[in-house]
Amino acid sequence: MDSGSPTSSKEKLQSWLRYYEDLGIRAFYRDRAPQQPSMEAGPSMTKQKEREAVGVAAVASGPDAPTRTAAPKLQLAGRGPSLFEVAERVEGDSLERICGDLAGCTRCKLHHRRTNIVFGVGNTHAELVFVGEGPGHDEDLQGVPFVGRAGQLLNQMIQAMGLSRDQVYIANVVKCRPPENRTPEKDEIATCLPFLFRQLTEINPKVVVCLGSVASQALLNTNKSISHFRGQWFDFRGAKLMATYHPAYLLRNPHAKPEVWADLKKVMALLGLTPPRGKRA
Ligand code: URA
Repeated sequence: MDSGSPTSSKEKLQSWLRYYEDLGIRAFYRDRAPQQPSMEAGPSMTKQKEREAVGVAAVASGPDAPTRTAAPKLQLAGRGPSLFEVAERVEGDSLERICGDLAGCTRCKLHHRRTNIVFGVGNTHAELVFVGEGPGHDEDLQGVPFVGRAGQLLNQMIQAMGLSRDQVYIANVVKCRPPENRTPEKDEIATCLPFLFRQLTEINPKVVVCLGSVASQALLNTNKSISHFRGQWFDFRGAKLMATYHPAYLLRNPHAKPEVWADLKKVMALLGLTPPRGKRA
């Protein structure tokens, strides 16, 4: 984590404590035993009764749940639970507050070269959330997720499901563009992921669709290749989660489109959606 250049151990500790506070973790107990890591990424959390409605895309930054059938379990990668997983839900949290906590973020090195923090966009009460990897060039400039070529394909996928972009919510694992669109690094993912978890807790969707391996591996806490679990249902914090290929992958590998469409049809079935005419194959 990079929050300035803390020199002394005390400064480092203060910097970590500020970060935990941003995550709503304010009490520390020496005797709190770490929980077993779970494929379900933690227990389902209480839904906030009154939620602030913010469909924010960018942070001003200067520069009934579906049937609970047994879900497959993945072999875990051996990582411990994140701090957020051992913490209770953030008291009084809202998307606005999360967005505010991210404003001007310098917690990881991605802040150096970003233009905008890309928070997320869409229906803040959406039943369906898409999670991508991280902003690209266009997203960084506009502060909105999935607005480039991959975003256009995602829009087509959403339309094929009989939905529009403003009926779903779209967010990323990391909120700042990795330089040259490289894959986000472990420390960057670890630093940003708790904010995505908070967003998902507030939106409380029925279904989370992970687009690509970075999002799937981060949310499912696994190192396994997406090809091992793509198209399968997992329990995830009171929702159902499915991984499918990233639209950018589909741009390079259009032959994989039928597999993604098969995955999206499972999502539609679970949500009780009927594909529009001409898209039923
Ligand atoms: N790819 C992603 O994973 N997210 C975006 O927002 C854009 C492209």
